[in-house]
Amino acid sequence: MKLILLGAPGAGKGTQAEIISEKFSIPTISTGNIIRAALKEGTEMGLKAKAYIDKGELVPDEVVIGIIKERLSESDCQGGFILDGFPRTIPQAKALDTMGIAIDAALSIEVMDSEIVKRMSGRRVCEKCGASYHTEYKKPAVEGVCNTCGGKLVIRKDDEPETVLNRLNVYHEQTEPLKDYYKAQEKLLIVEGQDDVADTTALVLKALSEI
Ligand code: ADP
Ligand code: ZN
Repeated sequence: MKLILLGAPGAGKGTQAEIISEKFSIPTISTGNIIRAALKEGTEMGLKAKAYIDKGELVPDEVVIGIIKERLSESDCQGGFILDGFPRTIPQAKALDTMGIAIDAALSIEVMDSEIVKRMSGRRVCEKCGASYHTEYKKPAVEGVCNTCGGKLVIRKDDEPETVLNRLNVYHEQTEPLKDYYKAQEKLLIVEGQDDVADTTALVLKALSEI
């Protein structure tokens, strides 16, 4: 299965991606995680991306398209994959098409802006492995500590309230048009992501079983 996850920042794409990945034994490719890892390593790409990420802006298309091209050519992607956070613009979607990658579906997880703002304020990430948690909805076993690697849980700089509002604007302006793009290709699936993680997962799995 080749799946794209769409949705506003904080709609729960990452959480659902993890669950689908495990169930279907396919990797999740998160451009956000790849960029943050590069940033931590201090690579040239990471340094270039930092200014955009911190402001809640999108990293230039050619940078993320390059990342995706490289990642999708790796052997673990040949049996399918989930894209979490890519494409985020029409040119990025067109680049995927040009690469000859036939996706099975683009699944949009829909959550109201007001709920997004609430969720983002509680989001915490592991500074070591990038795993994502929430102070209310997805607590780690030990407060402030990552379940899988023991790393420290921190607030991402771009999860600060002002940046979140900017990211939401960017989402509505640049990413939401992708819904029409994939609708025209008859690949768009829509699920409500407003309720609990488990409710959303049930809706996601039902939608996927129908493709
Ligand atoms: P979230 O999981 O909250 O949606 P991500 O971790 O996917 O956020 O992305 C964080 C930031 O990384 C984005 O705000 C953006 O600056 C950058 N980024 C990630 N994916 C892309 C992309 N496909 N195109 C441009 N920028 C991206
Ligand atoms: Zn961790």
